[in-house]
Amino acid sequence: MKKFLLSTCLAGENVRYDGGNNKIENAAFQRLVDAGLAVTACPEVDAGLSAPRRPCEIKGEGGGCAVLEGRAEVYGDDGQHLTEPFVKGAHMTLAKARENGCAAALLKHRSPSCGSTLIYDGTFSGVKIIGKGVTAALLAANGIRLFSEETLEEFLKYMEE
Ligand code: SF4
Repeated sequence: MKKFLLSTCLAGENVRYDGGNNKIENAAFQRLVDAGLAVTACPEVDAGLSAPRRPCEIKGEGGGCAVLEGRAEVYGDDGQHLTEPFVKGAHMTLAKARENGCAAALLKHRSPSCGSTLIYDGTFSGVKIIGKGVTAALLAANGIRLFSEETLEEFLKYMEE
């Protein structure tokens, strides 16, 4: 069966900015993980950021696509400029997907790295906007199909095809 890229926090590892995780509790999903089909990646921790860490958001229009094109930047809520590790983590994740032949990714929604449809607007006020995180944008630009835990049923159907 086909392998897929999986946000490490969705696998239950404590790599989130707050030191927690977002483990998916679903029997069909767990069978795929137990079968060794999931290739986990946390772009932020893989690029050297700590867990826990300050929450980060993309500032500027265009989300992750704009970050990759140098038109937007990533900042922590303490003002730290973090575009470089976010872009590095995105490229590390793409390389991992390619090495393992992953044509799809199941990514944590709303993350400034992994979000595939919605991200926060850069004001750290909880406002969500349409857009992708930096890693999601790079994966999509390279033909990798994106799913999130909110489209889990669709993902499970894809894995059965
Ligand atoms: Fe790491 Fe992505 Fe999960 Fe954030 S959403 S903790 S970057 S795997």
